[in-house]
Amino acid sequence: MSNTAVWKSVLGEIEIGLSQAVFQTWFKNTHISNYSEKRTEIAVANIFTKNQLEHKFKKQIIELLTKHGLETSEVIFTIDTSKLSAPSKQARPFVKEKKGTVITKPKLSTPNNTSGLNPKYTFDNYIVGSSNELAYAACLASASDPGNKYNPLFIYGGVGLGKTHLMQAVGNKVVSENPNMKILYISSESFIREFVKSIRNKKAFGDVYRTADVLIIDDIQFIGSAEKTQEEFFHTFNQLHQHNKQIIMSCDKQPKSIPGLTERLQSRFEWGMTIDIQQPDYETRCAILQAKASSSGFELPQDTTEYLAANIQTNIRELEGSLNQLIAFCEIRSLSPTLETAKALLANVRVRPKHISVRDVVTKVAKHFDIQEADIKGPKRDKSIVIPRQVAMYLLRSELHLSFPKIAKELGRKDHTTAMHSVEKIEKSLYTDNLVRQNVNEIKDILYA
Ligand code: ADP
Ligand code: MG
Repeated sequence: MSNTAVWKSVLGEIEIGLSQAVFQTWFKNTHISNYSEKRTEIAVANIFTKNQLEHKFKKQIIELLTKHGLETSEVIFTIDTSKLSAPSKQARPFVKEKKGTVITKPKLSTPNNTSGLNPKYTFDNYIVGSSNELAYAACLASASDPGNKYNPLFIYGGVGLGKTHLMQAVGNKVVSENPNMKILYISSESFIREFVKSIRNKKAFGDVYRTADVLIIDDIQFIGSAEKTQEEFFHTFNQLHQHNKQIIMSCDKQPKSIPGLTERLQSRFEWGMTIDIQQPDYETRCAILQAKASSSGFELPQDTTEYLAANIQTNIRELEGSLNQLIAFCEIRSLSPTLETAKALLANVRVRPKHISVRDVVTKVAKHFDIQEADIKGPKRDKSIVIPRQVAMYLLRSELHLSFPKIAKELGRKDHTTAMHSVEKIEKSLYTDNLVRQNVNEIKDILYA
């Protein structure tokens, strides 16, 4: 057997144990580049793949190579960019796909049995890493056998980490495999709105939802503030669950932390499978950037990928946003994306074009923590006030670049060392305390929304 054929057999076996997305992410564009004296060299496209294969697959690869006739005691992974499959590599370092290129889209189902699905979100274009692999696996399992695996499936995690994408992927997969099933995707805000409207118009509510085969409710946390809607949803939930209809929900927190959620709903949310999505690690961030760039027809140099991944850590939406900015910037000027361009752009992003005032920060912080604005500037020392106050100081420093004396003055503190200590404390907490980090990120999202 030739080396190519051996590698094909090895890949065939590896593929069986992995999801298509994971397999594609790590094994696309790999081949055996050299073999001598039980040493097999495998060429991979980039450093991230190399790291991943070394960490997670090396042993299995050695075993399988040997099994398929290439006796191997050592595997070396080398980086070979010549095998990249970016569409227009030979023409220029990067060229966006020409207008008029036919892009095959997932087939849309008939509109009457689905609602709210966006075909752009699929399992195939979801990058899997340690931060989201459980959620991914659970969603895939639900999509393959709706109603019978994990019911309900409850996915929670911070903003921009891929919850909506995953749930939409479930809907799209179910529809493509079961064209007769009724799939409904709705945000809990719309759900509440529809419910209120139905009361106003004295119309029956719920029938639409109770006849779904798969009901997907996004950002369920908002339901906590709507008492009557909760009651309605309780009945819908029971009805669907009793008939083995799949319910999938996303949330920014675990069921027990949703303010205002009734106990009976909380316990139902926890009946099936509750899984969190965490912030992506560095390797996953790199893989996401590379995948997104190449799907737009761009090749992102390794140093640029690393720079973006190292500097945008918390949120995939932001990661995607920066990449899109870079692509747009380069496209308009017919430039290749380089580290310098990325740095310059990111510096700009950091300065943030939108003007934010001290008032904005105080208002948004107070609202987020559900306390009075006056308390942030006031004398109270309770923990429930002190932490928001420290977060406000931190944001005044990090986003508005105010001096410590100015921060102290704005927030009614006599002494600027208080501001200094508060900012330092939050800076440290960002690394050690998930909750603080999540709060700060959410407030930033709101500030720049
Ligand atoms: P959330 O609902 O958790 O706030 P989204 O699902 O809206 O986050 O994700 C934000 C953006 O990031 C979307 O454009 C989504 O496609 C993208 N994204 C998130 N996670 C991934 C991933 N693992 N692979 C590819 N794209 C992702
Ligand atoms: Mg979402």
